[in-house]
Amino acid sequence: MRIGALEAGGTKMVCAIGDENGNIIEQESFPTLSPEETIPGLVEWFRTRNIEALGIGCFGPVDLNKKSATYGYITTTPKPNWANTDVFGAFKCLGVPIGFDLDVNASAIGEYTWGIGKGLSSIVYVTVGTGVGAGVIIDDRLIHGMIHAEAGHILLTRHPSDLEYKGHCPFHRNCIEGLCAGPAVAERWGKPGKELADDMRVWELEAYYLGQMCVDFALAYSPDRIILGGGIMHQTQLLPLIRKEFKEQLGGYLKSAEIDDLDSYIVVQSMDDKQGIMGAVKLGLDAMKEA
Ligand code: ZN
Repeated sequence: MRIGALEAGGTKMVCAIGDENGNIIEQESFPTLSPEETIPGLVEWFRTRNIEALGIGCFGPVDLNKKSATYGYITTTPKPNWANTDVFGAFKCLGVPIGFDLDVNASAIGEYTWGIGKGLSSIVYVTVGTGVGAGVIIDDRLIHGMIHAEAGHILLTRHPSDLEYKGHCPFHRNCIEGLCAGPAVAERWGKPGKELADDMRVWELEAYYLGQMCVDFALAYSPDRIILGGGIMHQTQLLPLIRKEFKEQLGGYLKSAEIDDLDSYIVVQSMDDKQGIMGAVKLGLDAMKEA
């Protein structure tokens, strides 16, 4: 089986061919320029590869309402040139079933299908990178709701030592993305996170917020596991600090065997950063089944 997969990101487009067993047969990346400069080349890449279906995990916000006239569009993104772009429609000319979802939802599906979420019924997958987003699967169903979850913008309580920083989100002073994403780390501390690996002040503050975020997700969604991915999580010193903050800030409120075993309750992504593209393969497989 040859399933096309596209992980459409704000800086790069990852195209792949995968199969029903979770193998990637071929993969290639292209820079994200304007839609006119980028999309036709991607369509051609898939057209020449004899695919049976296509799955797309796309940066957002996107319209996921199948009854909407703008289903499959990127809607209000601040990324120049990409607002109101019909991503789904651009690939219809391939004549194969197409599955379409938000990028972080695809990553959640990837981990749930083939990664460290396999066998569980409820997970939250969080990416902490250039932005913060969360894909939520509860009782074996991905949550969409009104638009789609935008849990990366949940508001947080500030650390008492951190009342001055203005935050990096143009919409909120105190949201997760604005306090914790890569650009916020770089702005607050004057250099990117990967150059700050030895500065524990950076990671203790980061863990304070990400631990609080995990408390919020555990309370709101009751997942069996919280999976953290994205570039910031490459800082391996961060995970134990997040677990410690989670335990402290939860205050013993939730009681379950899962939460008692924090080392397996809060974990990092398990697919070598391929969870997004693999989730897109699954979206393609599901679209083929529904067709
Ligand atoms: Zn925000």
